[in-house]
Amino acid sequence: MRRIHKRKPGPMKLVELQRQGKRFANLDDEPTDKHHVRQALLEDQRFLCCYCMRSIDPDKHQHVRIEHHQSQSTGERDLAWDNLLAVCSGARKLRGRAKDDASARKVPRSEQTCDNHKRDEPITINPLTTSVDAIRYLNDGRIEHPVAELQEDIDERLNLNVGFLVDARIAAREELIERLRRELGTEKTWTATALERYLQVRRESPRFPQYFGLIEASLVRWIARRRR
Ligand SMILES: [Zn+2]
Repeated sequence: MRRIHKRKPGPMKLVELQRQGKRFANLDDEPTDKHHVRQALLEDQRFLCCYCMRSIDPDKHQHVRIEHHQSQSTGERDLAWDNLLAVCSGARKLRGRAKDDASARKVPRSEQTCDNHKRDEPITINPLTTSVDAIRYLNDGRIEHPVAELQEDIDERLNLNVGFLVDARIAAREELIERLRRELGTEKTWTATALERYLQVRRESPRFPQYFGLIEASLVRWIARRRR
């Protein structure tokens, strides 16, 4: 998880519906509106799931859901722009037509992640607030938070330390190292400036690489080590 900076204001359509006393479900009547909201969310999140940071790109046939951080059932935050997030289907495999909401729910609960695992349970950790800034990426692929309650959100409610995500994070870091070796030579020759430039290009990209939180944290650590 990484801080998401949303455009402000959000899509006018949401404000309009709110003014009319409508609900999020009304967006279903107007598929273009829903598409518009989803696209705005994806662009602000640079096409990554707000929780697991896997790629969610409709152009790559990856299923995208719109999630309410505070459950929809409470009503009042139903159409609030700062309550909406784009998430993956929460299944192990995200690709293909079969991985829609219904099939994601059929995956064994222990293998579900993100909104799909959380269901309507409230969580405190929120990628729109500073609550995610203290997240650490461990060498064993797990993610850790110093606040016990937020660690429970990560482990128990969102299931972000499930085996396949842990493995994918390890693989993502190895891939990063391989890529840097190809571009910059052996590790000993990597300079802080070159790593900073590499990071900057990715931070400015309209599409982040998968697990960008981990990639960024690794680069920041390696840069700091070289500046010491
Ligand atoms: Zn996800």
